[in-house]
Amino acid sequence: MTTTHIPADEATLRQAIVEHAKRFAPAGLSQGTSGNLSVRWRSDDAEGLLITPSGVDYGSMAVPDLPLMRLDDGSWSGPLKPSSEWRFHRDIYIARPEVGAIVHAHPTHATALAVQRRELPAFHYMVAMAGGRNIRCAPYATYGTEALSHNALAALQGRRACLLANHGLITVGTDLASAFALAIEVEQLAQQYLLALATGTPVILPDDEMDRVLEAFKSYGANAQQVAATAPR
Ligand code: 13P
Ligand code: ZN
Repeated sequence: MTTTHIPADEATLRQAIVEHAKRFAPAGLSQGTSGNLSVRWRSDDAEGLLITPSGVDYGSMAVPDLPLMRLDDGSWSGPLKPSSEWRFHRDIYIARPEVGAIVHAHPTHATALAVQRRELPAFHYMVAMAGGRNIRCAPYATYGTEALSHNALAALQGRRACLLANHGLITVGTDLASAFALAIEVEQLAQQYLLALATGTPVILPDDEMDRVLEAFKSYGANAQQVAATAPR
C-alpha cells in the first residue's frame, strides 16, 4: 500500500480547516454544505491554498478530502473538487499578502442584511473590528463567478470583512482562528443592527469617533497575544 506523505505543517493546516468546518453549524455560521474555508499554504517552491471541497457536508468532511490549489495557475490536486468559490479565495490571497485564512458563510442575520443590499454602518464601535468605519456589502453576482470575486475584492478594500448581496459574508484573517472569530462577530453585529432597526433608529457614530476606535484597536488584544505566546504547548 502506498501512502502520500503530507508535511507536518500541511497536516496541521488541514486539521485546523476540518475542525473549524465542523464548528460552522454550532457557531451559527452555516448549515449543511453552505460556506467554505481556506488557508494559505506555502512550500519551498510554490504557494497555494488548502480549501474545503465543494458540496460536502461539514459533519462528514475528513482531512484527506481537502484539495490543494496552486496560486499561480489555479491547478489543484486531491480526491475531491475544490469549493465552487475557489476564485475569490485565490484572488484574495493574491491581492492581500497579509491574509492567511478566509471564511465564507451564510449566517442568518448577516444574510438578512445582505439581501437588502445594506452595509453595516458605524452603529456600534465594534464594526471597527473589520478594519474600517463600516462593513460594506458587495454587489450581487452569481456564486462561483469571477464577477463575484471582483465585487468581493472591491468591498474588502481596507477591510477584513464584507457582506455579499443576496448571499452571505466573507471574513479574512492572518489565521483561521481570527477569520472565524471575525465571522462570528460580524454575524452578532448584524443581529444587533437588525434589532435596532426594527425597534427604532440606530444612532451612527461619527467618523472621528470611529477613527479613535480604529487607532485604539491597534493595541487592543496585546494581553491575549502575550498569553498565547507564553501558554504551554
Ligand atoms: P461550495 O460547497 O462549493 O463551497 O459552495 C458553498 C457556497 O457557499 C457557495 O457560495
Ligand atoms: Zn456561499
